[in-house]
Amino acid sequence: ATHEETLGFQTEVKQLLHLMIHSLYSNREIFLREMISNAADACDKLRYEALDNDALYGDDSDLRIEIEHDTDAGTVTVRDNGIGMSRDEVIRNLGTIAKSGTAEFLKQLSGEQQKDAKLIGQFGVGFYSGFIVADEVTVRTRRADADEGVEWRSRGEGEFTIADVDKPGRGTEIVLHLKQDAKEFADDFRLKNLVRKYSDHIEVPVRMPRVETDKDDEGKPIEGTEKTVWETVNEATALWVRPKSEISDDEYKAFYKHVAHDFSDPLTWSHNKVEGKLEYTSLLYVPGRAPFDLYERDGARGVRLYVQRVFILEDAEQFLPLYLRFVKGVVDSKDLSLNVSRELLQQDPQVDKMKSALTKRALDMLKKLAKDKETYQSFWNSFGSVLKEGPAEDYANRERISELLRFSTTHTESATQDQSLADYVGRMKEGQQKIYYIVADGFNAAKHSPHLEIFRKKGIEVLLLHDRIDEWLMSHLTEYDGKAFADVAKGDLDLGDIEGEEEKQAQEETAKAKEELVKRVKEALGDEVQEVRVTHRLTDSPACVVLSEHEMGFQMRRIMEAAGQ
Ligand code: ADP
Ligand code: MG
Repeated sequence: ATHEETLGFQTEVKQLLHLMIHSLYSNREIFLREMISNAADACDKLRYEALDNDALYGDDSDLRIEIEHDTDAGTVTVRDNGIGMSRDEVIRNLGTIAKSGTAEFLKQLSGEQQKDAKLIGQFGVGFYSGFIVADEVTVRTRRADADEGVEWRSRGEGEFTIADVDKPGRGTEIVLHLKQDAKEFADDFRLKNLVRKYSDHIEVPVRMPRVETDKDDEGKPIEGTEKTVWETVNEATALWVRPKSEISDDEYKAFYKHVAHDFSDPLTWSHNKVEGKLEYTSLLYVPGRAPFDLYERDGARGVRLYVQRVFILEDAEQFLPLYLRFVKGVVDSKDLSLNVSRELLQQDPQVDKMKSALTKRALDMLKKLAKDKETYQSFWNSFGSVLKEGPAEDYANRERISELLRFSTTHTESATQDQSLADYVGRMKEGQQKIYYIVADGFNAAKHSPHLEIFRKKGIEVLLLHDRIDEWLMSHLTEYDGKAFADVAKGDLDLGDIEGEEEKQAQEETAKAKEELVKRVKEALGDEVQEVRVTHRLTDSPACVVLSEHEMGFQMRRIMEAAGQ
């Protein structure tokens, strides 16, 4: 080995390693899935780069993953003949975490095992999971377009050593030197089961060696005739290509974990083959919970794009709108060119058509999910505020999106957003024509607003909006089911036909009687107000501030002020 140097892990890696080893102990068998997932990605990447440069295959075009173990040495080896890594790539990929928001994410980790395990799952465990079972990991790799190999070694304790080495074949070999209490994994049966459990769906064959000998006439093995036969252990066809009826829920779930780099089960999925002018297959998933970078500007989003089964792009964000950025999965197109790039995708009219079809599919999948109240609630709690970006971004689908929205209302008086607009409309009072709502900074502010007094008195339900995005949402929602939305804090309060004639008359009389008072108040307040008038909004409070019909709401004002407007 030459050109050897020892480098420190990035601080974030050190922290993550420490916490991961501690909190994922009871899930430690997932290390194998992560190694195989990376090996499969590496094969995908080679296939993609080889589209332009067939020479990368050399004389070895059979992409495969091999798993071996050595019980005596206590090692498990995962090998692939995929793209491999250069020295720089090794240092970057196995020494740092490039995801933005990592530092903030790590601050949330508490040292409490169960809670951290969930959070780390959300972050994606990946390569470093090797250190849950190994006290030393050796990586030997050679990039498909390089002559030199690189060896990376670490005990996961703050630093790693890297050196140039000879490596005949391209690709990556990872040797896990198992910890004393993890030797159980150096076992044929155990490994085979894990491959089947977690990686059956991987398209590349995952092979394990079996030693065979010739047999004599009596069927006894003949000494000295041992030879290694490689047996494919997994299904080894692209999952989305197989007919739906032949894929089990467990296979769908396992595949999700691979494409989404997620640790936990998805909530639901939708698998479709589209034939006709545009031919493609899509397999879309709704994750079980939000990834840590859902609100990061450069957070991972989009689907994995394949063209005729060849992997093209991770995170192809052109196929779904931003408000569905939590949807994960695969799109495999028959029509796009294999040379398609991010830039070309942006201009391709076929991509727009697919985007609008996939958007409908995704919304449909959510509609179906909504039938299961409990599961939908868990979806809403994670992704509701992202979905609320929908009406503004996707005007054409605002009806569909409206049906998926959930709110807090005066009906339940609970901060949990679990009431649909259909629920609200179903409870509307006779003669009520509008859907009333109030926007405030927090649930309690909304719930205790004096604007609600008259509504409570009359038993009219009001939506209690208290998410940061709510005012933005309401400025793009004008009606639902033919009923207009009305902000109870804005303009004239028109309760429609709910008020009887008598009530209206009484109000007019009061207004006349108080004309003098109104005049005096207006003089006292001067330019501070536009108008002062007698109201029947209030039943307990003496007065309140109201915005005129078309004025920017309080929340919006604050956002604008914060932005220096
Ligand atoms: P992720 O797979 O989510 O990107 P990982 O922690 O699993 O994150 O892997 C980190 C990176 O290391 C990968 O993105 C890849 O660039 C590189 N890597 C890991 N294993 C291999 C491999 N077998 N072949 C080539 N590159 C690999
Ligand atoms: Mg990975």
